[in-house]
Formats: sequence, structure tokens, C-alpha cells
Amino acid sequence: MGAEEEVGPETLGRSTWTFLHTLAAAYPLRPSKEEQHRVQRFMKDFAQIYPCAPCAESFQEIIKQDPPDGRSGPAFAQWMCRVHNEVNKEIGKDLFDCSKVGEKWGVCEQCTAHRDKLDDFKQTFKGFQSVQKMNVPR
Ligand SMILES: Cc1cc2nc3c(=O)[nH]c(=O)nc-3n(C[C@H](O)[C@H](O)[C@H](O)COP(=O)(O)OP(=O)(O)OC[C@H]3O[C@@H](n4cnc5c(N)ncnc54)[C@H](O)[C@@H]3O)c2cc1C
Repeated sequence: MGAEEEVGPETLGRSTWTFLHTLAAAYPLRPSKEEQHRVQRFMKDFAQIYPCAPCAESFQEIIKQDPPDGRSGPAFAQWMCRVHNEVNKEIGKDLFDCSKVGEKWGVCEQCTAHRDKLDDFKQTFKGFQSVQKMNVPR
């Protein structure tokens, strides 16, 4: 039986770019070394598992040529715009003017508005993990 709503490469791509550009907009202005490593790891893993095989394959090549730049928020947003443009080029779409990326994409305000709740959740979860650790037989 098929899924209730069929997903094609176009809808998948559009939603994924929304996610990726929003991720870049929310990335810290001055990331720690750990945050930089995390984002590099994430983008490389993402390119391996993106659920459109030909897209994933060509994206792996794109980021091999231009590896993720997570040195700062603006650097990451520009990198995302560049690699999106590489995909646009490959599939014959118009290129986007990367000087306008900050006008087009921003953080998800409704999501950050709940950051306090997220912090509460993290605190709770931390407690949960330590309880779990105590109960797990070795
Ligand atoms: C990692 C990845 C690889 C893909 N590879 C392929 C592939 O190999 N073959 C294929 O057919 N499809 C591929 N896709 C899908 C493709 O990129 C589009 O998402 C899809 O064709 C829908 O295009 P769209 O015109 O709605 O705009 P999209 O390209 O989805 O972009 C959404 C919106 O982002 C804005 N935008 C466009 N370019 C940029 C940019 N450079 N920087 C910032 N914002 C921009 C525009 O306002 C646009 O309307 C891939 C998608 C992803 C996420």
C-alpha cells in the first residue's frame, strides 16, 4: 500500500531546502569548534542519506568540491546558497543572488519562541538519561 501523500523529488527538494536554509539562518554567528564539527558532519551524513538517490550522489560530488563552511553563521548561509546554486545549475534552474539570502531565509520565529520550553525539556531529558543509565544492566 502506498503512502497517503505521494512525495516527489520536487516537493522533497523544496521542503528540504527550506529546512537547510533555515538551519543555516539559525546557525550561531560565532560557532564553537564543536558546533563547526557538528555541522560539517551533519552535511556530509545528510549527503549520504538524502532519500533521492541521484540527487544524493550529485550532492556528494558538489560538497566534495566545496566542503561545508561552518566557520560563522554568514559563512554557512553563503555556503548553503552556493551549493543550492550548484544544484540549480545542474538541473537548469535560474541561479539565486546569494547577496539576498538573508532577505529570503530567516530563523523560524515560532520555533525560537519556544526555546525556553526546549531548555526545560532538555533539563528533564538529562535527568531521564541519568536515571536510564543507572538502570541499564551492563
Ligand atoms: C540536496 C539536494 C539535491 C538535489 N538534487 C537534485 C537533482 O540532482 N535533480 C533534481 O531534479 N532535483 C534535485 N533536487 C531538488 C531541486 O533542487 C528542487 O528542490 C526542486 O526541483 C524544486 O525546485 P523549486 O523550483 O521549487 O525551488 P527549490 O530549488 O526547491 O528552491 C526553493 C526556493 O529557494 C529559493 N532558492 C533557489 N535557489 C536558492 C539558493 N541558491 N539559495 C537560497 N535560496 C534559493 C527560491 O526562492 C526557491 O523558490 C535536490 C534537492 C536537494 C535538497
